[in-house]
Amino acid sequence: MLGVGGKDLSELLGAIAKFQAREDRPVDLKALRAGIDALEAEFSAEARRVQLGKEHLADGSATLVTWLSRLCGMSATSAADRLCVGTQLESMPRVAGALSSGEIGYQSASLLCHLRDQLGEKRDRFDESEMLELARRHSVATLRFLCRYARHVADPDGFFRDAEADFRRRRLHISPLMGGMHVIDGLLDAEGGAVLRTALEALSKRMGVDDQRTDGQRKADALVELVHHAMDEGRLPKRNGVRPHVTLTTTLEGLKNQLGAPPADLELSLPISTRSLERIACDCSISRVLLADSMVIDVGRATRVVSAPMRRALRVRDKGCRWPGCDRPLSWSSPHHIIAWAKDGPSKLSNLVLLCYYHHRQVHEAGWQVVKAGREFRFIPPDRVMMRRARGPGLRWAA
Ligand SMILES: [Zn+2]
Ligand SMILES: [Zn+2]
Repeated sequence: MLGVGGKDLSELLGAIAKFQAREDRPVDLKALRAGIDALEAEFSAEARRVQLGKEHLADGSATLVTWLSRLCGMSATSAADRLCVGTQLESMPRVAGALSSGEIGYQSASLLCHLRDQLGEKRDRFDESEMLELARRHSVATLRFLCRYARHVADPDGFFRDAEADFRRRRLHISPLMGGMHVIDGLLDAEGGAVLRTALEALSKRMGVDDQRTDGQRKADALVELVHHAMDEGRLPKRNGVRPHVTLTTTLEGLKNQLGAPPADLELSLPISTRSLERIACDCSISRVLLADSMVIDVGRATRVVSAPMRRALRVRDKGCRWPGCDRPLSWSSPHHIIAWAKDGPSKLSNLVLLCYYHHRQVHEAGWQVVKAGREFRFIPPDRVMMRRARGPGLRWAA
């Protein structure tokens, strides 16, 4: 008879039934979990029994996993997990007992079962007592790590084969949505995931007390900043003879934000706002295209908004993002025009300041404003900008 903490299975089922009826509050969640886990062990053993009896073949199911997932509304992964546990527990009586008595949870037992299963012909190297003791002492997360460690010690070749199988499953999909947002969905192997997380964590720390972004927003910004940096460095391989870059198409009216002007078109995406256009125009190469009756009649040479000598001078002067407290170094910063280039702001040192991706966005899209005061720059938050505007002229943009 299965038991948890001295109770037999019928008592546990009674506790679960009471919980479902919302009686006898508060519920002993630990006992409830132990009961559910003991039932999972029962379920797994029963699944194994069905497999051995080939009962699932009667209704035409090719595998027990298919049969189980259809019958019980489970995913194939969950069904396969229960079958693995049911199979392995037959050979691990101490683990089975610890699971039934509530000493260890189902997830811990499952980890041990999968480890023994993965070892295949080398399963004689699986020390049940030692692994059970680890399951008793450690959390599920730590046990998962220890099982991986044990796998490598017992079967380094198998470990390598599994790692390569994981690597083959890698994928990344970037799908545009109707409204212009993009969904990223992917799977990376252990090394690739660690590399990406390390890079994103370095770039997704809060940028001061005014940074109200969620963790997810900071990670998304970090990914975009990383890609901007890779493109700005100009070291990506050429495609069709040119370095990868994003093309933005706008009209003269759109550039000057005149009323009724169409939005700018971004290649591979949807039209973007004028504020974003102004930010991108702060540091880009511009090509003039003349049209007549929608026919291209002239294409001018691409010229950089901020010339190479001016860029060098700016880098020497600012040495990185000038926002107070910002840690982004030189190569992670780009020129911002204090008076927008599109509004005839000159690309001179007196009208330029280096900002990182996040702070550049703060200025253009979030409404912060930069004021040059002698050799220093002041960054004025949106609410104070509004107050100053309400008070009338007095805010000077550039020295
Ligand atoms: Zn700018
Ligand atoms: Zn910055």
